[in-house]
Formats: sequence, structure tokens, C-alpha cells
Amino acid sequence: MTDNLFAKLEQQLSPSARLITDLTDYDKYCQDATIERGTPSAIIFAQDESDICHVIKFCTEHSIPLVPRGAGTGLSGGAVPQDGAVVLSLEEMTELRFDTKQKVAFAQTGVITKTILDEAEKLDLFYPPDPASYDESTIGGNVAENAGGLKCVKYGVTKDYVLGIKGITANGELLKTGIYNHNAGFDFTEIFIGSEGTLIIITEIALKLIDIPDSGETILTAFDSPKDAAQTVSDIRMAGITPIVLEFLDGDAAACSNSYERNDSLDNVAAILLIESETADSQKIESLCHKNKCTYLKREDDPDKADNLWQVRRNLSKAVKELSKVRISEDVAVPISKYPHLVEFVSELNKNSKLRINSFGHAGDGNLHVNFMGQTGSEAELHLMEIEIEKLLKKAIELGGTLSGEHGIGLAKQKYLPMEFDKFCLDSMIRVKFAFDESSLLNPNKIFL
Ligand SMILES: Cc1cc2nc3c(=O)[nH]c(=O)nc-3n(C[C@H](O)[C@H](O)[C@H](O)COP(=O)(O)OP(=O)(O)OC[C@H]3O[C@@H](n4cnc5c(N)ncnc54)[C@H](O)[C@@H]3O)c2cc1C
Repeated sequence: MTDNLFAKLEQQLSPSARLITDLTDYDKYCQDATIERGTPSAIIFAQDESDICHVIKFCTEHSIPLVPRGAGTGLSGGAVPQDGAVVLSLEEMTELRFDTKQKVAFAQTGVITKTILDEAEKLDLFYPPDPASYDESTIGGNVAENAGGLKCVKYGVTKDYVLGIKGITANGELLKTGIYNHNAGFDFTEIFIGSEGTLIIITEIALKLIDIPDSGETILTAFDSPKDAAQTVSDIRMAGITPIVLEFLDGDAAACSNSYERNDSLDNVAAILLIESETADSQKIESLCHKNKCTYLKREDDPDKADNLWQVRRNLSKAVKELSKVRISEDVAVPISKYPHLVEFVSELNKNSKLRINSFGHAGDGNLHVNFMGQTGSEAELHLMEIEIEKLLKKAIELGGTLSGEHGIGLAKQKYLPMEFDKFCLDSMIRVKFAFDESSLLNPNKIFL
């Protein structure tokens, strides 16, 4: 019966679009990079905007929820279908063109972020936002989550580079914003950035590019206490220095990564910082590291040798995955002056918990990712994770921060949203949702409970 229903839709799609109802080889479309899961009734691989319009019409007629999906690397459950929803995969819409005079890239939603960086570089141009998942995640997913990244401390996050968006609304209409439009009237660009697939299906994005900056010097430094490392982060930023990259790993995160690929200098450290700085700032940064009693410091200006120093950061995610049966990764952020308090809080949380808890993140802009690592995946362990996570989120809000620095709310953090926003603000967001999507077709039950 269901297959018959979808057969009619299949006939309307473009010849290369695929509609899958047998999920045998498609398990990954039931989840993203979180532990959330659901079973879709179908997965459709769209090739163009007309495919999307047909799918929207079909889902509206049959009241089937529609979940847009990029690469599925999301860390808040946004691309996870609730049972019976249709997953609309946009990963095969991958056209990319450049206007070098205007320094703009026009990327279809499914272009992998790193492809934009690589292709721009061939034209002597630079696209700065670089989430650590940049060799997997799509630009549409980055815009839908307003992704941050390693270089965002200096250059800003995804939203700082979006000049305009093309997308299909829940009514099946093409809507253009920003530079795709004339200047008059409302510009919806910012409302769609970070909307997590709940307002519009993004099909193309116009992205601002900049000239390629000089590469900086890398500093790897270690400390005897996480608080000293975090104090160094705060001191660097409060001294008015904006490094190109400023990453923090606590001792346990460094140990996880070190067990994956050994770096003798990083044995038994309590925290490390990885910094890329402009050469003119390196000496000042080194002094601040010493002032906060760093126990190890290495500077490297040869890009190839510097690359080795980044291994400890690059391996972390794989290492944590290998070392835990279940992992929940939270991504709180706080004002930079409060960073040491947050880091110390997580360190205490770890000491007093039966769980293994460690932290790392794009420290330069106040982000701290906290891994809650479970060894059994039992109900009791998941319950304990929930208790510890709630403590962390409360602390972040108490310090004037946010529940999510970059990964979004999705399914994973909906119930905590009232901690950060008052009722009027939440109601206003829900009214915007219904203004664009009256029948709640697009990614319903995400962000808001
Ligand atoms: C190892 C690892 C490292 C990571 N590092 C970072 C990091 O440094 N910074 C960071 O910000 N995030 C990071 N992430 C999280 C994730 O990669 C980002 O959120 C990314 O932007 C998701 O892109 P995606 O293509 O995988 O989107 P998906 O996971 O497929 O979807 C994410 C959300 O976007 C929506 N969506 C996707 N495409 C569209 C579209 N065309 N129109 C409308 N809605 C759409 C989905 O419905 C969903 O709500 C990391 C994840 C992993 C696994």
C-alpha cells in the first residue's frame, strides 16, 4: 500500500532522482551523529528544485512530515526522522560556481564545505568557516545550523558569509533572499540561517569569499591544571589578541586522543591549547602561557611540521567514539571571561561522576564541547547522562552563556530551550515557524517541543 503511494511520486521525479523504501542499505538515514534514531517511510535523493516541489506537494497531500538532510553529521538530531517521515536528502545537489570579480561562490546545498574551500583556493580566494566536520558536512547543513569552526574566532561563523539564500517553502514556492533579490522589503536571510530545516528547504547559497590570508604560526602548549589553560584563553582574548585558531582540550580529551595516536610530550597533561596566531602576536601569546604556568610549549612556523601538532585535535572525535559505547556531546558557550569557571565546573563534574566526562572546543569564541562517555548504553547510564547534562546546561546559562554555541537544538536539546528563552521569545519563534509553514510539514517536532 505504502509502496503504491510512493510509486506515484516516483513517476513525477526527475530521471536521476531516487526514491528508496527498502531501508536495508540505508540505515544511516535513520540517524545523524547523535544517539537519536527514527525510521523513515522513504528516503528521496533530490536532484533539483522541481523534485523538491513534487515531494512537498506529495507530503502535504498525505500529511507526511518532511525532514531535509545534508550529510547527517549533525550533533543535535535535526536530520533524524521521526517514525514514518520522509527524508529528503539534498546531498546530490552539488553545483558550485564562482563570480571571482564579486568574490562570491554560488553553492547548491549539497556541496561539501571543504570543496568550497579547495575550489576557492584555486582562484586565490578563501571561504573561512571550517567546522571540524568540513570534509563531510554540506554547506546547506552548515547554513541550517549556522555552523562554527576552528577559524571562526578570527573570521566569524557561517552566517557572516551568507549573502543570500534560495529555497523552497512549505507551500512549494521558490523564495530568494539577500543578493538574489532587490534590496527593498524584509530580508529573510538571517531567519533562515540556523533554522534547522524547520522553515524552508535551502537549495542554493551565495557565499562571501575573502582574499587568502597569510598562514600563521602554530603554538602547542600544555598545563598542569585545566583552569590555567582556560585562564590563558581568557587572558589572550582580554588582551585584545584575536588568534586565527584557539582550541582547548582538557587532560582527559588529550589522553583519549593520545591513546589513538601517541605524542610523548602530551603524556599526563591536565590541559592543552592549540593556537594558530599571526606571527606578530606569537610572542605576546607565549608570555601569557608562561604567566599561567604552562609546562610545555612548542612553536612551529613551518606549515608541514605544524600540521603534526594538530593531530591531537584531529584524532579526538574518532578516539572518543572508539573509547565509548555511547557518547553525548554538548556544545555550550559562555562569555570569554567566564571560560575558566566553565572549564573548572566540567573538571569537577568529571571528578564527582561515575561517567567519563571530558571537554574541548573552539575556546577563542567561548565554545566548550563536553563529551559524556558511556560504557554500557544502559537505561541507568543514559539517565545519569541526562542528570549530568542538565547540570552543565544550567551552569552555562548561569554564566551568561548559551545551550548551543554551534550544533543547534534539534531533538536533543528542545526540552531545555525554556532555560535560555522566556515564553514571549519562544512564542514569537513558534509564530515565525507557522508563518512559513502553516501545517508544520518541515521538520516538525524539532527545536520546539
Ligand atoms: C566529527 C564532527 C565534528 C564537528 N565539528 C563541528 C564544528 O566544528 N562546528 C560546528 O558547527 N559543527 C560541527 N559538527 C556538527 C555538524 O557537522 C554541523 O552541524 C553541520 O553543519 C551539519 O551539516 P550536515 O550537512 O551534516 O547536516 P545534517 O546533519 O544532514 O542536517 C543538520 C540540520 O540541517 C538541516 N538541513 C540540512 N540541509 C538542509 C537544507 N538544504 N535545507 C534546510 N535544512 C537543511 C537538517 O534538517 C538538520 O536539521 C561536527 C560534527 C561531527 C560529526
